[in-house]
Amino acid sequence: MRVSVLSIGDELLSGEVVDTNAAHIADRLYETGARVFRHVTVPDDEDAIVEAILELAGASDAVIATGGLGPTPDDYTAQAAARAAGVPLELSQEALDHLARFEERIARPLHPSNRRQALVPRGCRLIPNPLGTACGFTVEIGGAEVSFLPGVPFEMERMLADTVLPELGKRLPAPWRRVTLKVFGIPEAAIAERLEGALSDDSPVQLAYCVKYPEIHVILRAAAADATLLEKTAAAVRERLAAFLFAEDGDTMDSVLARLFREKQVTLSLAESCTGGMIASRITAMAGSSAYFLEGNVTYSNEAKTRMLGVPAELIEQHGAVSAETARAMAEGARKAAGSDLAVSVTGIAGPDGGTTEKPVGTVYIGIADAAGCRAERFNFQGDRTRVRSITTFTALDWLRK
Ligand code: ATP
Ligand code: MG
Repeated sequence: MRVSVLSIGDELLSGEVVDTNAAHIADRLYETGARVFRHVTVPDDEDAIVEAILELAGASDAVIATGGLGPTPDDYTAQAAARAAGVPLELSQEALDHLARFEERIARPLHPSNRRQALVPRGCRLIPNPLGTACGFTVEIGGAEVSFLPGVPFEMERMLADTVLPELGKRLPAPWRRVTLKVFGIPEAAIAERLEGALSDDSPVQLAYCVKYPEIHVILRAAAADATLLEKTAAAVRERLAAFLFAEDGDTMDSVLARLFREKQVTLSLAESCTGGMIASRITAMAGSSAYFLEGNVTYSNEAKTRMLGVPAELIEQHGAVSAETARAMAEGARKAAGSDLAVSVTGIAGPDGGTTEKPVGTVYIGIADAAGCRAERFNFQGDRTRVRSITTFTALDWLRK
């Protein structure tokens, strides 16, 4: 089945808004068993929208369009859809009822202009929107089912999941299966080398790499009929990448760590210098982190390292703020101050300034302290300030996992 995506909006073409809708639709369609074969973006311009609808409908079995269903006169999608379908716009009682119910729920009157959103192409099927004012609709154009959804991502996502995908699913063969193995700390080329021979040349299982810096996702896909082989292949790949594999499918480094900390009932504190709280932010992004995360210290200056963590000023003087000695003392100091089971520290040179010959930009020490003692390791990361900080954060999280 050929499915295409139409994104509508000036802001998508100017670069002001990143088109996450198209990516989300493609991703979700994959699970359903269909693939996006074409993706077109057009401005908020009636003629341009009509032209794109006709072109995509002519080449596809289904089209999913997003954007431009708003109540203001600069939203042209409903008009364009009607024109492309060769039918007039019509006030829909069902859509009006939806607006009335929405009004009741939010307990305040909608702007009169919202009535415009009940104007839909004659003969269309409405797509309920439980989260907003704009109903979506599906019309048949040139043998293709063309569905129109609002641009607001969370509304679009809900309507896609509740209505559009289930309807498309009825017309599709069994969906494809996918296993995503998330690895860190090994370059793509080294992964490929390790996986040599894991899949035979004629295997129906497809292998793909997706770099999501600093993670690499190894994606295995197969038709539902090959599910057993997919599982077998995934087991082989898992084994070959075990040392680097931190999460699978919907799990992330953060969710894996949250589970681990809860299971082990270990408490944690942090001492961050060059990451400025990024590690604490990742840890606390997970609901329930208060069960194990006690505190994070952002000790940026030498003076703060001494005052807040008790790192001796002479030690910093002698070895430098970016050193194994300081990293260890920071971790020990954080552990003592918080009374946690475990503490992790980072101190490094994120750049662009501050590098020396012995300690160039990207030099980072990560320290860890627990009841058994304390250790630190040096890393030589590459890249600009943003990359150094993000890979430092990820490496520290990976240490916590181990
Ligand atoms: P509304 O009822 O809010 O007017 P609409 O269907 O007219 O809905 P738009 O006005 O086009 O939708 O967009 C609403 C919001 O969603 C805007 O903030 C817009 O930037 C955002 N948005 C629109 N299309 C996309 C997209 N493809 N990806 C991500 N965000 C989008
Ligand atoms: Mg718009």
